[in-house]
Amino acid sequence: MLNGKTALVTGSTSGIGKAIATRLASEGADVVLNGFGDEGEIQTLRESIASEHGVKVGYSGADLTDPDAIEGLMGYVARDFGGADILVNNAGVQHVAPIEDFPVARWDLIIALNLSAAFHTIRMAMPGMKEKGWGRIINTASAHALVASPYKVAYVAAKHGIAGLTKTVALEGAEHGVRCNAICPGYVHTPLVDAQITDTAKARGISEEEVVKTVLLAAQPTKEFVTSEQVAGMAAFLCSGTADQINGALMQMDGGWVAQ
Ligand code: NAD
Repeated sequence: MLNGKTALVTGSTSGIGKAIATRLASEGADVVLNGFGDEGEIQTLRESIASEHGVKVGYSGADLTDPDAIEGLMGYVARDFGGADILVNNAGVQHVAPIEDFPVARWDLIIALNLSAAFHTIRMAMPGMKEKGWGRIINTASAHALVASPYKVAYVAAKHGIAGLTKTVALEGAEHGVRCNAICPGYVHTPLVDAQITDTAKARGISEEEVVKTVLLAAQPTKEFVTSEQVAGMAAFLCSGTADQINGALMQMDGGWVAQ
């Protein structure tokens, strides 16, 4: 389905991004991975995706809080892959603390990574997509793009920002074959959530087991985590012809969380 296309997936050395990159490769796309991690493990990941799916797999360790590094990443994708046909803005971090104690440096980092990085990748990818008359931009947002939770001020602000970015880009690309949508998952059990369980337990003064039961899955009516593979399936769907008229949508995958 995606043969001849290149997908750049940010934050794809772990969790949801890794699942999305693997899934898009399974559909035939060449993929460019990005994110931090152990050099050997990243090399193994590149080789396994390439050999299993017969696609070209690139990698850049660009730190997406740095606009110059993002320019370097986009230059690499343009030079070595002919540009990104599919751009998945997925890299993100979380920090949990009451606003009065929220470290200013964490606010700045989360806004830079979870929001501004997507602005930069999109502004640099858009000209190539418009020229080709085809592009798919998918932003990994969150249920927190639609509703808030206490102690996550930077994350909720950034994800609500991503919702606005998604809708605006959808309108600008609409007549050029470019579609821009966001996926809004509830809780997905990834390393990001593991860290959050520990932080929330500290912030609320309760055990980690209680956090899972009374904080995380309390919000999710199905009482089940979303899986990374389900999110990756949604990303593949948004790249398919069936989704050609889906544009500017915030696709909820949260077991009914925001329906409440
Ligand atoms: P994760 O921690 O497993 O993966 C995060 C990825 O981002 C890693 O590859 C990491 O190396 C990369 N990254 C971190 N800082 C970076 C930086 N400065 N520059 C470049 N890459 C960087 O997290 P995840 O749970 O897979 O989250 C992925 C996305 O999904 C995030 O945007 C997150 O907000 C969103 N999300 C997660 C959940 C969840 O419950 N896990 C729910 C909704 C939305």
